[in-house]
Amino acid sequence: MNLLVTGAAGFIGSRYVRTLLADDASDVPRVTVLDKLTYAGTLANLPAAHPRLRFVQGDICDAGLVDKLMAEADQVVHFAAESHVDRSIAGAGEFVRTNVAGTQTLLDAALRHGVGPFVHISTDEVYGSIDSGSWPETHPLAPNSPYSASKASSDLLALAYHRTHGLDVRVTRCSNNYGPHQFPEKVVPLFVTNLLDGHTVPLYGDGRNVRDWLHVDDHCHGVELVRSKGRPGEVYNIGGGTELSNRELTGLLLEACGADWDRVEYVTDRKGHDLRYSVDWTKARDELGYRPRRDFTTGLADTVAWYRDNRAWWQPLKRRARQGS
Ligand code: NAD
Repeated sequence: MNLLVTGAAGFIGSRYVRTLLADDASDVPRVTVLDKLTYAGTLANLPAAHPRLRFVQGDICDAGLVDKLMAEADQVVHFAAESHVDRSIAGAGEFVRTNVAGTQTLLDAALRHGVGPFVHISTDEVYGSIDSGSWPETHPLAPNSPYSASKASSDLLALAYHRTHGLDVRVTRCSNNYGPHQFPEKVVPLFVTNLLDGHTVPLYGDGRNVRDWLHVDDHCHGVELVRSKGRPGEVYNIGGGTELSNRELTGLLLEACGADWDRVEYVTDRKGHDLRYSVDWTKARDELGYRPRRDFTTGLADTVAWYRDNRAWWQPLKRRARQGS
């Protein structure tokens, strides 16, 4: 079996691939990673060499390359995306190209070569914002940012390929991931690395926005359950079970880094900032036996320790981001 994994030089995909490669009992003997190595992807996230791993640098919008790789693949897990909301507000073009057209390119090739399951990794942000309660998978999509709109578009395309063509597509929608190897523009690694460097951290608006936090290992476990046990054409929410306002999260990160509130800089709120996300993941629990296994307190402490011990990983990425490349 050859599993094609897109976007696995990024945060979550690389964790997923490293977990698969570390599992000798896995039913996946060969993994092919397709990644463009955008600013968010780095080969430092993957093993330098592994007998079961092949890395191909390329774009999911490159129909010729995708066709060739799909001809050699049996299944797909599709992580590749432009993933940062703030960047989508600054410019949506790359989000539509990669997240929508890139997904369609992959779906077309999967269809031509009869590849499945095709696990499409999406996000809770496609549901919009919810004041109370949690969204089931049947909730209508109401994305608010260009990022979430592009992800919602790709979800609908993926599901349409199941309904129209019978392709074995499975969609996951997860909450906010945290853990090692996350690009230091997202809130947890940005705040931790700024604090470790003695800088301030930018807190949006009044910090009331609430997110559910999911350890990347729990997400990868959920994806693997969907790939191996999920049903074609189904959507599965994957949640972490720890809801925190950004203010509460900031307090925990300050404490973990031994810093005070004077290191917090209040900045103008993100345009269209969704107040709260919350997924109901009882379907994944009841059908697949999913439950988050990482306790948030230790998961966060381990994550902070990882950034403290791995400056060599994040310092070049921050330097490159400052230089705008
Ligand atoms: P990331 O930004 O860390 O990594 C994305 C990867 O995709 C990078 O390695 C990048 O080089 C690659 N990529 C981008 N455009 C490409 C293209 N055109 N062709 C090939 N490769 C390309 O993202 P992540 O945080 O690991 O997220 C992975 C997936 O999970 C995304 O689909 C994202 O929407 C989804 N998701 C993430 C979170 C989160 O909290 N990080 C939450 C919900 C959903």
